Amino acid sequence: QSIRTVYNFNAGPSALPLPVLEKAQQELINFRGTGMSIMELSHRSKAYDDVHNDAIARLRKLYSIPENYEVLFLQGGASLQFSMIPMNFLKPSQKAGYLMTGVWAEKAFDEAKLFGEPYEIASTKERNHNSIPNSKDLQYNENDAYVHLTSNNTIYGTQWKEFPNTGNVPLVADMSSDIMSKPIDVSKFGLIYAGAQKNLGPSGVTVVIIRKDLLEKANQEIPTMLKYNTHAKSNSLYHTPPTFGIYMLGEVLRWIEDLGGLEVVAKQNETKAKYIYDVIDGSNGFYLGHAEPASRSYMNITFRLADEELEKKFLAEAQEAGFVGLNGHRSVGGCRASAYNSVPVEACIALSEFMTRFQENNS
Ligand code: PLP
Repeated sequence: QSIRTVYNFNAGPSALPLPVLEKAQQELINFRGTGMSIMELSHRSKAYDDVHNDAIARLRKLYSIPENYEVLFLQGGASLQFSMIPMNFLKPSQKAGYLMTGVWAEKAFDEAKLFGEPYEIASTKERNHNSIPNSKDLQYNENDAYVHLTSNNTIYGTQWKEFPNTGNVPLVADMSSDIMSKPIDVSKFGLIYAGAQKNLGPSGVTVVIIRKDLLEKANQEIPTMLKYNTHAKSNSLYHTPPTFGIYMLGEVLRWIEDLGGLEVVAKQNETKAKYIYDVIDGSNGFYLGHAEPASRSYMNITFRLADEELEKKFLAEAQEAGFVGLNGHRSVGGCRASAYNSVPVEACIALSEFMTRFQENNS
C-alpha cells in the first residue's frame, strides 16, 4: 500500500517520484557519509561538486546533448528567461519571431519588447489557444535574432508534436511543462529552458541548454548575473546555486534512467493521457476537451463540463475522492489534469474511472 494518500494532478509545482522523495528523506540529515545535510554542504565541496556534475551528466546523457551545448542551472524560474533571452540576444531595432500559443508566450513576448522588436509569427489567440500552428505554414526572416516557442502550453493543454525548422535562425523553446517527457533532438534548438518544478524536481532551479556559439554572440553590456556566459564559464557555480534543487533534479533524472529512459517515459505519458482523453471522447459531450485532438498535450489535459454547477460538483467530489489539483488555470477555468512524468499510470486510470462513474451518476 502506497504511503501516498492523494492522486496529485497539480500543474506545478507538481508530483515528484515517490522513490526520489524516499531517497532524499533517507539522505536528508547525513548526506552520503558527510555528517551533514546536502543543504548544509559548501557548494565548493567535493561532495556537492559530485552531485552538481552528476546532474549535468545525466541531463546530457538522457537528451544526448551534443558537445557544442552548455547545460546551465540558473535561478529566477522560466519567467526570468523571458527577459534574459532578449537581453542577451536581441539588439534595439532587431526583430525576433514569437509563436503565440498562450499566456506564457505572451509574457515572453512582452519582455522582448523592452529590448528590441519582437513580432508575432502566428497566434492561436482567436480560438483561446486550443491548437498549435502548423509548422509548415510558418515564415521566418533570415535576419531575426531568434524564433521563440512554448513547447507545451500548460494552461490550454496543447503541445507541439513536431518542431518548426527555422533554418539558421536559432529556435528558442520554453519547455517548462514538457521537458524530459520524451526524446527530442537538441541540435534543432539554439536554446531550451525550463523551470524544474513540473518534470525535473522542486522549484528553484531553472535548466538552460544553450548552443555555445550563441554565448559568444550575446550582448556583453548587461548585468553579470544575467549573462549566460557568466554561468557557462563557471559551470553554473558563479554564485551559490540552489544546491538542494540540483540534487533532487539529479535524482529525478536517475529515476528516469531506471525506468528505461525517455522512450519508455514518452510511451507511458501517452498511455496515461489517453486514459483521460478516451473518457472525454467517449462521453457524448458530457466532458468537453479544450484542445483540438491533433494538438493535445500529453502533460496537461484540459476539459470542461456542460455547465458550471456540474463542474463545481465534479471538482468537489474529485477532491473528496483524493484527486488533487484538477481545477483549471484561473485564466481559462474548467478542469485540468496534469499528468507529468511522476504521475503514475494508476493515478490516470483511477481518474478515468472516477470520471466515468461521475458521468453515470449525473446524466
Ligand atoms: N512557462 C510555462 C510553459 C509554464 O508552464 C510556466 C509555469 O507554469 C512558466 C513558464 C513560468 O515558470 P516559472 O514559475 O518557473 O517562472
